[in-house]
Amino acid sequence: MPFTHAIMFHHFHGGRHLPSQGSLSAAAFSDMLDWLDARYNLLGAGEYLRRFESGALGPRDICLSFDDGLLCQYDIAVPVLEERNLDAFFFVYSSVIMGLPNNLEIYRHFRTHGFRDIDEFYAEFFALAEDVLKSDLSRHRRAFEEADYLREFPFYTESDKWFRYLRDQVLGPERYDEIMTALMERKAFSPQDVMADLWMSESHLKDLAARGHIVGLHSFSHPTKISRLDYDQQYAEYRKNYDHLTSVVGSVSAMSHPCGDYNDDTLKILAALGIRIGFRSNMSRLRAGGPFEVPREDHANIVRAMNG
Ligand SMILES: [Zn+2]
Repeated sequence: MPFTHAIMFHHFHGGRHLPSQGSLSAAAFSDMLDWLDARYNLLGAGEYLRRFESGALGPRDICLSFDDGLLCQYDIAVPVLEERNLDAFFFVYSSVIMGLPNNLEIYRHFRTHGFRDIDEFYAEFFALAEDVLKSDLSRHRRAFEEADYLREFPFYTESDKWFRYLRDQVLGPERYDEIMTALMERKAFSPQDVMADLWMSESHLKDLAARGHIVGLHSFSHPTKISRLDYDQQYAEYRKNYDHLTSVVGSVSAMSHPCGDYNDDTLKILAALGIRIGFRSNMSRLRAGGPFEVPREDHANIVRAMNG
């Protein structure tokens, strides 16, 4: 049973944007739009918002949304949208546009651009992790094997799983950051130098708005768990993002929740800022939600449906 929703996109590749986990080429994106067009009513973001507010969205009405203000979206996906005369939502967090790097995205870029392949990255990462963990390493390795960690993700390689286990279960954020910083220094990789290749600038955002796309909120610094912040901290996240984006593109009326995370405080803050539509990052809650809980399907699930 279909239910109105948006499709959520992140990474694209082509030209200077190298392929990375889950990224789409322009051709694959175009094929996906054909596939969606054949099964749904693919609406522009402006039309979707109009129908949303007048309660006129049908179960097959969908729209497209792009999170995190990534330059690859502007370079690869926007020309495909232009060809089809289709406008979309772009949800942007301000900190990276104001020159503050986001580690998650920087590390992803470093992994895909700083090494011959992912195995070379893993070899160097595992060697540094061994230096940190020393004699504890073999105990962690045994626990990892006994847990059959991430067995629900059959497409991960053994190294993918071991890397995630070390990062998320053993090292913790601080030691993980230290290892990544050491690796980046060894490779003379500077986060500041790649920021302009990773994220859109204010002039890109202005251009998107001028072409009829809707630029919306995605918090200031993209916390992975914004619901852990108190009301005032969350308010600061969205207020700073709102003030920045309105100064760049004029009015701001839409948003998506970073990592799909929010609580009642978040919803109150969005109402106070006059936001008119907000998007989740999954399809798990289809009916009960209010105006800031419109479901979204991850593009990876569309890829799976197309192949299945
Ligand atoms: Zn995001």
